[in-house]
Amino acid sequence: MKFAVVSIFPEMIESFLSWGVVGRARTNKILDIEVYQLRDYTHDAHRTTDDYVYGGGGGMVMKPAPVYECIDDYASRNERFKVVFPSPQGKIFDSETAKELSRQENLVFLCGRYEGIDERIMDRVDYELSIGSFVVSGGEIPALLMIDAISRFVPGVVGNEQSVIQDSFYNGLLDHANWTRPEVYRGLAVPKVYVNGHHKEIEKARKRDSIIRTILKNPKLFLEKEIGLEEKTAIIEIIKELTQNAG
Ligand code: SAH
Repeated sequence: MKFAVVSIFPEMIESFLSWGVVGRARTNKILDIEVYQLRDYTHDAHRTTDDYVYGGGGGMVMKPAPVYECIDDYASRNERFKVVFPSPQGKIFDSETAKELSRQENLVFLCGRYEGIDERIMDRVDYELSIGSFVVSGGEIPALLMIDAISRFVPGVVGNEQSVIQDSFYNGLLDHANWTRPEVYRGLAVPKVYVNGHHKEIEKARKRDSIIRTILKNPKLFLEKEIGLEEKTAIIEIIKELTQNAG
């Protein structure tokens, strides 16, 4: 899968996307990421990308021309791509959006700064997406965050595919608790079933833990979940145990 990011701070993007899971996927050529300096698409000595907002009130807005020219240049080398504009006014980006976008071949992210980008850019935008109901100073962190989350759904990016499937939200539940050595630390012990349990018992304990945590930590997510047979069985067991303890 290919990503391109357009920003006046390309170094921010480049350094972040060179590490960890995403960095490795780039080295392994599973992900191709290009970073564009928006100032390269200006024609004045100061390489100006912003101007005063029409109507007064102060503040600067990013000019439409450099952004349009950068997209045109990209289009001359890339046949099919979709444009993402991170914006607090967009649809909230979530796990479903990440999964859906991971099916695209080529995504271009436009990073706004100041008051944002001239509204005429919306003609070229396919997805306007928000990372939450708050405002940050630029589209770089939102773009990085989305690229990271989308990449995790691209086959081969996360070495252990199983870990993506177990991650929170993938199947409408939160991840179960995870433990590592030592078995006892500061008097706190890892539950026995995870240490000596058999595969089947561990699976059951994990499913049960996922269900309990989702109900307690994110009940809204649980209400939206379609419950399958495996989950129903786990819920029945949880309730049986609760009633036995109460009795
Ligand atoms: N005046 C704008 C905010 C501009 S913030 C408004 O109130 O709608 C500058 C840039 O940061 C935006 O153009 C956008 O690219 C990015 N940004 C800020 N908050 C964001 C959020 N919650 N989600 C995604 N992008 C965001």
